[in-house]
Amino acid sequence: MSHKYSFFGAVERSFDKAAKFTKWDKGLLDQIRQCNAVYQMRFPIKRDDGTIEVIEAYRVQHSHHKTPCKGGIRFAAEVNQDEVMALAALMTYKCTIVDVPFGGAKGGIRIDPKKYSVFELEKITRRYTSELIRKKFIGPGTDVPAPDYGTGEREMSWILDTYTAMHPGEIDAAGCVTGKPISQGGVRGRREATGLGVFFGIREVCNMPEIMKKLDLSTGVEGKRVIVQGLGNVGYHSAKFFQDAGAKIIGLAEYEGAIWSNDGLDVDAVFQHRKKTGSILNFPGANNFEKSGDALEMECDILIPAALENVIDGKNAPNVKAKLIGEAANGPLTPEADEIFSKKGIIVVPDMYLNAGGVTVSYFEWLKNLSHVRYGRLEKRFTENMNTHILGQIEELSGKKVKGPSRDMILHGPDEVDLVYSGLEETMINATREIMDTWQENPDIPDMRTAAYVVAINKVATAYAELGIFP
Ligand code: NAD
Repeated sequence: MSHKYSFFGAVERSFDKAAKFTKWDKGLLDQIRQCNAVYQMRFPIKRDDGTIEVIEAYRVQHSHHKTPCKGGIRFAAEVNQDEVMALAALMTYKCTIVDVPFGGAKGGIRIDPKKYSVFELEKITRRYTSELIRKKFIGPGTDVPAPDYGTGEREMSWILDTYTAMHPGEIDAAGCVTGKPISQGGVRGRREATGLGVFFGIREVCNMPEIMKKLDLSTGVEGKRVIVQGLGNVGYHSAKFFQDAGAKIIGLAEYEGAIWSNDGLDVDAVFQHRKKTGSILNFPGANNFEKSGDALEMECDILIPAALENVIDGKNAPNVKAKLIGEAANGPLTPEADEIFSKKGIIVVPDMYLNAGGVTVSYFEWLKNLSHVRYGRLEKRFTENMNTHILGQIEELSGKKVKGPSRDMILHGPDEVDLVYSGLEETMINATREIMDTWQENPDIPDMRTAAYVVAINKVATAYAELGIFP
């Protein structure tokens, strides 16, 4: 990654491009665009070999127009202030597009987690949490972190444990962080939420006949040839949901290499192979790519970059042959790449709403924590009893019995995971339609990303305007 490239600058460019299609005055637009609070910290930890290392870390709250703020914590060697600011800004726009009532935030610790022991990672995470507590940069009503690149349920548990230990008796403490294990107040469906949201979002675009016609593709997801970069939390689940819906995963890329097969790859088998051998390469029946990045340039219908930012830039974008690109990662395309795809008529489904499944389900988790009850607990049995009664009446009147899976489907009362999935599906479908409607209503809007920004700016600006601060 080039150090001259500014990720936050790219977000600002996209913002300004979209702001022209809105009616808001400059002062208000400036207030929306800027980061409201940037907390940069340094703290020491003692490594297992006895040496002291100073850790660089950040928490950025991009917008206080709604509280709490919300956004993941990233552990990566490349973390820097510009990146965390950009990701925090994307969180504001993401939350508002999917109607999640939070301001955007993001955290980052500049370490390569692979180079630290579990004990060291725990010390770093707990110390980082203490620093956040000291400045009131964490709490169920102020700022609620979540997993991101390089972090998961384990880190969220450490954060929760540190927070609760320092806030004895705070009844809503579990709402200080999301993406927790179920036993710690997590919600069923959070782990796969971002990947599932990516699937729902792209599926909705694929179900739009006029868009598919423009791309010379048939409607629907079934049979589509898909390539996914990054087999982590987001990439693995995205690939899996596409495969389950009948799409063909013809390429998978990881940092050590990439593989392809025109017959389709079984995502779970590849995942197990990588776990066993330590590499994605040499998967039985598949071909290796020489360089991992080559996978992005292979012929396919849908390309899903789900690893990190800036993987497609002005240099490799002209070689990309996909017809539709789903930004599962945050910022995988540089503005130069975006221009190239826009000119070519390739549809780019933008990150800030496509990967909003994680924050949407995080919102459900936070609500669960505040209400102290599992989703479905109160109504499941009632619904099943009612459905049994209704079905019994229908069978008696018609003289016919409903059997098999249909019977189970009708009688079934909702479990937590059913409600979470359906809430997410509804959210992603609505967001996709709102963005597409905005795009269609104004033919001068050049691409879907700009349309998504227009939706986001209008919603945040309306919230500010209705606060009465701005004219
Ligand atoms: P993760 O750490 O679980 O997985 C990332 C994967 O990408 C890893 O397997 C890594 O080896 C691989 N990778 C790294 N560099 C690569 C390269 N050059 N080529 C191919 N593969 C490479 O992280 P994640 O949580 O899946 O996050 C991935 C992206 O999705 C990030 O941009 C993140 O900000 C974004 N995102 C994550 C969530 C979430 O809920 N986890 C939500 C929204 C957005």
